[in-house]
Amino acid sequence: MKELKDRIRKDGKIKAGNVLKVDSFLNHQMDIRLFEKIGQEFKRRFADAEINKILTIEASGIGIACVVAQSFDVPVVFAKKTQTKNIAGEVYTTKVESYTHGRIYDIIVSKEFLGKGDKVLLIDDFLANGKALEGLAQLVADSGAELVGAGIVIEKGFQVGGDMLREKGIRVESLAIVDSMDDKTGTITFRGDDADEQ
Ligand code: 5GP
Repeated sequence: MKELKDRIRKDGKIKAGNVLKVDSFLNHQMDIRLFEKIGQEFKRRFADAEINKILTIEASGIGIACVVAQSFDVPVVFAKKTQTKNIAGEVYTTKVESYTHGRIYDIIVSKEFLGKGDKVLLIDDFLANGKALEGLAQLVADSGAELVGAGIVIEKGFQVGGDMLREKGIRVESLAIVDSMDDKTGTITFRGDDADEQ
């Protein structure tokens, strides 16, 4: 998605530890006009699929998932991060290792909001090592719902998550795949030829 890649080149900031900061339009201040176009692009890419629910993870996935969900006209559920012990049987739960915070936490979704008959699209802002998406996919599997695929705004293609999930047979559609980024020069390269894109 050319507009997204241009925006990342213009406003993205490369931090140590292979972290790309896009706080001015995605992760802190949110450009909802861009979000709308992102939603339309996911809708176009998943036009062949039946989807009745979007699942994301708090916190940074929620804003984008809500706008994407408008394109699909379906509800959004977000997995909550929790440190509560002894969670009762009312929720599906699994553990996720956080890329940006470097610790492990539990994520939960109420059984009330995910289950058999649901056809679920996962949405997240970033894909790095794939732990967040792997956790969400696990919750979908545990609930008996069907996983349709995952829509990612920015995939860091030089990290293992994308390949790992695709090898597992999950359909992953990423709107911008970063092939390399250099925190010294500020240079970001993307997979694919921008000239071919809208
Ligand atoms: P993963 O679980 O794939 O390793 O990491 C995905 C999660 O970590 C995303 O939900 C996102 O919040 C965060 N994340 C991973 N890499 C980056 C990054 O380069 N920049 C930002 N802003 N968040 C990231």
